[in-house]
Amino acid sequence: MGNSTFYNEVLTDHNMHPLHKHDLENPDYVLEGVNPSCGDEISLQLKVEDGVIKGGSFVGDGCAISQASADIMIDLILGKTVEEALSMADSFLRMIKGEATEEEIESLEEAGALEDISHMPARVKCAVLGWHTLKEILEKECGKQ
Ligand code: ZN
Repeated sequence: MGNSTFYNEVLTDHNMHPLHKHDLENPDYVLEGVNPSCGDEISLQLKVEDGVIKGGSFVGDGCAISQASADIMIDLILGKTVEEALSMADSFLRMIKGEATEEEIESLEEAGALEDISHMPARVKCAVLGWHTLKEILEKECGKQ
């Protein structure tokens, strides 16, 4: 119960007042993510300097879950190293499959509120859209080093 209230609050808050939904100036990476099964689209924009995520934002259209999840994700990864962000992405994807440990879910802070999505198969692709797009960018960044 407490958890699902938290879930609703977090989703509503990030939809009404997204912190990171805008274009970034001079991003190092811009990558489109699409979830055709729901019609969600995001364009993830990142600035990476010396292996640290210095800037991040997104623009897009789609359901509440896809947009809120991307906003929450960017809030979490700003200032993190590429390795830390990749490990968070793995934890998030495991959580959505219902395979994450308690510790992993805690390490995801606010994104842990989306744990309930693991029980909503139709919404899984919405929740992971931003994280999959992030992983693709970060793997490119790792390949450069
Ligand atoms: Zn969706």
